[in-house]
Amino acid sequence: MKPLSEFDLIAQLTADAPSKAKDLMQGVGDDCAIIAGPYGFDWLITTDALVEGVHFRREWTDFETLGRKALAVNLSDIAAMGGRPRFYLVSIGLPPCDSDATVSALYDGIRAQAAEYDIFLIGGDTVSSSSEIFISITVLGDVPRGHAILRSGAKPGDAIYVTGQLGFSALGLICLDGGKRNDDAKPFILRHLSPIARIKEGIWIAKTCIATSMIDVSDGLLADLGHIADESGVGFEIDVGRVPTVPRFAELSRELKQDPIVLMLSGGEDYELAFTVDVQKVAQFEQLIQNQDIYTISRIGSVVGDIATRNVIGADGNLIDIKTKGFDHFAR
Ligand code: ADP
Ligand code: MG
Repeated sequence: MKPLSEFDLIAQLTADAPSKAKDLMQGVGDDCAIIAGPYGFDWLITTDALVEGVHFRREWTDFETLGRKALAVNLSDIAAMGGRPRFYLVSIGLPPCDSDATVSALYDGIRAQAAEYDIFLIGGDTVSSSSEIFISITVLGDVPRGHAILRSGAKPGDAIYVTGQLGFSALGLICLDGGKRNDDAKPFILRHLSPIARIKEGIWIAKTCIATSMIDVSDGLLADLGHIADESGVGFEIDVGRVPTVPRFAELSRELKQDPIVLMLSGGEDYELAFTVDVQKVAQFEQLIQNQDIYTISRIGSVVGDIATRNVIGADGNLIDIKTKGFDHFAR
């Protein structure tokens, strides 16, 4: 029998977990759980682990950089709700061969990342591991009561937006794997090894009170928009030519025998935000975007009513057959 996909496995394991209960505003199924807090705030709680050999390789990253990333990928889930991170816990599994210096470097990275967001370590766990290091971090954040942006709020007609560029991290990983580390490859490798959680952007988006749903792009744009679509009971159509990029991205992808469109649509770990905006408020939102010039926010498509529709329009205006591109697992 074919093993279950990660998403199907989670669905099976969590089938009896409540999505709402007393004080639980959002259980399994979003980027963070939401628990009603006192004083007009809700708590956001999220956890993510990195495992050696699966999520990182020692020969590709130093431990300080790894520490930064381990925290950043968790912060990204707080960003995806429009929240502000506050506290964190760190659990580590250490193989016998690792020295104290390794763990110190890891913590230097975690601490440096935490300092940028003014958040505090409040606990964790330290255990032995037989041969690989793992790092599991839990982050607590907060958001004004009822203002977290869920995956489940997208409505037919809503516009779809993304922050930043997509596919860069996947290209960086391919560069690392292919031993390509020249100046051309560096910006992409940096995106992969040292992603930035879009906390400031998420808070800004939440403050506009215009976004109807949001997610961070950790699994790849199609997969993550798929999570919004599944949770909201809608479909989507995106226009790949509207996703911002740089010429070097497509050039280097082709040099490495990769299709840049595939990387853009299904490459994971960009940790940008994808979100939807009520179509009636698009003009107002575009105005707000114009008035802030800190980061790139691009309109890339629309939400549609038919849950089976997961369409991608190519730069030439034609529908891309996502099946022939190897994306058939994204089709519903
Ligand atoms: P993300 O990519 O945002 O970290 P995931 O795809 O890892 O989200 O998880 C989706 C949802 O499933 C989240 O609500 C997460 O907390 C939950 N989840 C993932 N793995 C497990 C598990 N083993 N047991 C319970 N809940 C889980
Ligand atoms: Mg997420």
